[in-house]
Amino acid sequence: GGMDVLADLREKLSPRGDLVSPRGRELTAAVFGKPLTPVEVVETICRDVQSEGTAALLRYTESLDRTTLTGETLRVPAADLEAAHAGADPDFLASVRRIRDNIVEFQTAIRHQDVTIQPRPGVRLTQRYVPMRRVGICVPGGAAAYPSTVLMTAVPAQVAGVDEIVVVAPPTPFGAYNKDMLATCHELGITEVYRCGGAQAVAAMAFGCNALPAVDKIVGPGNLFVALAKKQVFGTVDIDSFAGPSEVIVIADSTASPAYVAADLLAQAEHSPGSAILITWDESLIDSVRGELQTQLAKLERSDLTRDALADFGALILVRDSEQACELTDSFAPEHLHIETADPDSQIARIRNSGAAFLGHHTPVALGDYAAGPSHVLPTGGTCKWAAGLSVNSFLRSGSVTMFSEEATKEIAGDVIRIAEKEGLTAHARSVSIRTDA
Ligand code: NAD
Repeated sequence: GGMDVLADLREKLSPRGDLVSPRGRELTAAVFGKPLTPVEVVETICRDVQSEGTAALLRYTESLDRTTLTGETLRVPAADLEAAHAGADPDFLASVRRIRDNIVEFQTAIRHQDVTIQPRPGVRLTQRYVPMRRVGICVPGGAAAYPSTVLMTAVPAQVAGVDEIVVVAPPTPFGAYNKDMLATCHELGITEVYRCGGAQAVAAMAFGCNALPAVDKIVGPGNLFVALAKKQVFGTVDIDSFAGPSEVIVIADSTASPAYVAADLLAQAEHSPGSAILITWDESLIDSVRGELQTQLAKLERSDLTRDALADFGALILVRDSEQACELTDSFAPEHLHIETADPDSQIARIRNSGAAFLGHHTPVALGDYAAGPSHVLPTGGTCKWAAGLSVNSFLRSGSVTMFSEEATKEIAGDVIRIAEKEGLTAHARSVSIRTDA
């Protein structure tokens, strides 16, 4: 049944060592002189960067990314950022600005506001939200360039009021040498961009070194090494999440267009690996979507990879009714949920777990990936049961502020002293009674 298929997919999608390609395994064996698991690789890199600083960061950039840099050339010069921006396609920059405005508008609206209450005379209680001072953003650069990731991470941080934003991207044509990515950084006013990636970049941002001072939080997507390194440094710094391959569940009924549904599944599978799952109670839709997938696959640029991803991580699931579709979706807890039905509001109301939901026939997930306003950095692997996608609030930390008048302290003193004495903490009790005993 559908439940088994989904449980099986959930297992296959969890970020694991065997998602590393044979070439990746060869590389690490060559660099470390023996075969290591990705976890061992990341532990070694983090330990070396923590103890040796810049030297280890540059050494791993040389061995893993085959790029020789120095403490000076590690950072992208201001002139390169300006040149990339000056040479960028004006239409591209106009899109970047419009998208930034969309993100700013949404993230500003959802930003946590300080809350102050005065429950009794003389008592003032505040929850305040303070931006983090310095954050680091991982922008991937292995297989494709991601100016969208710069927008979807840096703009929420800017709306939060973060003082310093650091971008790291591998020294590749898709990473720190990508003109569109650099132009986007310049457009957003980001000046600190470093040519490093993988676990070594994450470790450098967490522990800090001469060439790359430490940050308070590390966010952004990346391959398995990036994800494992973020997990490894959590506690030294904060991180956004431990992310694996991207996923979508599409719930569709007879009102859905098979062509649209197929296009939506293919868009997700294109991440390769990306998981694309259709759940429907309309048997004929399964057949028509299957036909559309074949037709549309033939026309795609990355059609081989996309076909493989569909075969490995895709599913077309027939259920009894809308209710069963919602139950299955909830148990899978997809990163993306797209509801293409006559009344998507009725389904979303019954689904607790989804990283981001897209409603209706005219709301492809790609709108959210690129332009709508909520961030595309989302909890994968079922973690949306307890984790939220990146937002302005990911860059704020909350703290309480308490103030009592003399009278108000006298009023509450009895309760404090009684509990403190029960706990045997007489100094605590005394710090109150010294003020209230006349
Ligand atoms: P990446 O840029 O995240 O990492 C590349 C780095 O990994 C290299 O610089 C290297 O240092 C390190 N590395 C590679 N192979 C290694 C090995 N064998 N041993 C040790 N280190 C090694 O890589 P990528 O390929 O671009 O992957 C990016 C991932 O992020 C993709 O899976 C992509 O789908 C995903 N992504 C997700 C989102 C999102 O928001 N959900 C957005 C963009 C990208």
